[in-house]
Amino acid sequence: MKIVLFTDLDGTLLRLSDYSYDVALPAIAALKERKVPVVFCTAKTLSENEYYRAELGIEDPFIVENGGAIFVPRDYFSFDFPYSNEQGRYYVIEFGARYDELRAALDAIRAETGFKITGFGDMTVEEVAEDANLSIEQAKRAKAKVYNESFIFDEPKDKEPILFEKVQEKGFSLTHGGRYYNIHGRNADKGRAVKILTELFKREYGAVMTIGVGDSKNDIPMLKAVDQPAVVKRPDGTWLEVPHGLENMYKAEGEGPEGWVEVVERFILS
Ligand SMILES: [Mg+2]
Repeated sequence: MKIVLFTDLDGTLLRLSDYSYDVALPAIAALKERKVPVVFCTAKTLSENEYYRAELGIEDPFIVENGGAIFVPRDYFSFDFPYSNEQGRYYVIEFGARYDELRAALDAIRAETGFKITGFGDMTVEEVAEDANLSIEQAKRAKAKVYNESFIFDEPKDKEPILFEKVQEKGFSLTHGGRYYNIHGRNADKGRAVKILTELFKREYGAVMTIGVGDSKNDIPMLKAVDQPAVVKRPDGTWLEVPHGLENMYKAEGEGPEGWVEVVERFILS
């Protein structure tokens, strides 16, 4: 049976502290040899995805900006399928709201509440690099957002419910992970994108077995959409709490990329 691997990047295939993936290279080579598609399913932008695809020599479809869109290389599937538009080498299936709509919503919320909201779009490349602890090149790629906007909410914690309410009122969704809040379209989630892509793989290969690897809350929709969900250990030694309906979730002993290799060896290479 054809196996398809869906994987998160930050904290999963990429080590959280330095974005390194060296320990995973032999496993990636083995997956390529066995023609197992490795589908990135990440919060990262198109530009960031393209960087890691080139670095790792991966040519499979990928999901950007937490399910904002699926990018399928033009000659990847042997059949025609519905897509939103064509961009360069890809057919793009879009779910997310557009960046300018999200920016406008944040502007309106700022005007209505006086909240101190600073989006990536309000910051220079240098400021994003400094704030997110990225190199200048990484910050440029991180700023190239199309389907979501990350922002700093510089207000007391008790103002947070008002922020959530306002975002909802404008017709969008809000998530919060680590330093940044994230505003995105209501239909954009990793799970929806994984399901649609899985259907395309089934059309191409017949029976398909899907594996998903992640590390945090925004991976839950992806993990729920695959046959075998797995999580890697986080730097603080914990795993994502097993959500309801994911009782078969595998918890890797290894942290980040080490855990990723463990999952690949256990469910694919063994
Ligand atoms: Mg992650």
